Amino acid sequence: MDLGISGKCALVCAASRGLGRGCAEALAAEGVDLVINARGAEALEATAEAIRAAHGVQVRTVAADITTEDGRAAVLAACAQIDILVTNAGGPPPGLWSDWERADFIAALDANMLTPIALMKALLPGMIARGWGRVVNITSGSVKAPIPQLGLSNSARAGLTGYVAGTARQVAGKGVIINNLLPGIHDTDRAASLDAAKAKAEGVSVPEARAGREASIPAGRYGTAAEFGAACAFLCSQHAGFIVGQNLLLDGGAINATL
Ligand code: NAP
Repeated sequence: MDLGISGKCALVCAASRGLGRGCAEALAAEGVDLVINARGAEALEATAEAIRAAHGVQVRTVAADITTEDGRAAVLAACAQIDILVTNAGGPPPGLWSDWERADFIAALDANMLTPIALMKALLPGMIARGWGRVVNITSGSVKAPIPQLGLSNSARAGLTGYVAGTARQVAGKGVIINNLLPGIHDTDRAASLDAAKAKAEGVSVPEARAGREASIPAGRYGTAAEFGAACAFLCSQHAGFIVGQNLLLDGGAINATL
């Protein structure tokens, strides 16, 4: 299927590895030029070079912390025209409900709620003026079903989801489509660190911890960044113009719900 987005330009945040990189690669495969971001310059450059070589698209890089005002300013300064925005950042640390103080919540809100909102506020006006745009926010399955040890993530992502629900409906009539992608467990560095934390907490090996987590997924495995990226590219496509303000769960069936 031709997604009809060749020649568009996308900003993909937090994209040197993992799910962000999966989204960047899938968009590049459709002929989309990219601005990609992460904090570590070396890995970011290596990813950019791999994408240029594989897909022949333009890839600009901005090494910056997207959760800071300065970082966002640097990223936005590199963006002449952005048609597609994929928001992403690292997830908050795990813990217990009683662990977190105000500063921990503010940091989580900054990273996983207020950063995507700030990026949308910066880029939606241009999309609206041109009559076309796509936004995909990478959130989490924790929006549908809480992950008890990720209370900071549960809280911040719920706030973003509420903002998107209203905003998506305010801009859809201008040709700008906003949706959220909700990852369940995917095979990335983030999943590996959560495997390691589980192994430590339960006194088992990391492969045993992973096997236990895989067994909790009806598909019997972790998702891949490539699968995730393909779903993102579709939501950024010409064909997604009637999919407004939705929360698409990619979790191998892990959340046991009818809807
Ligand atoms: P990952 O493999 O750890 O990759 C994170 C990427 O984001 C890296 O490129 C990292 O590069 C970049 N990054 C992190 N913090 C950043 C920041 N402040 N500014 C700019 N770039 C930043 O993580 P992932 O598994 O792809 O997860 C992506 C998001 O999905 C996270 O929010 C995570 O909580 C969520 N999620 C993931 C899963 C899963 O199973 N993988 C499940 C549910 C939700 P640098 O470190 O160099 O900045």
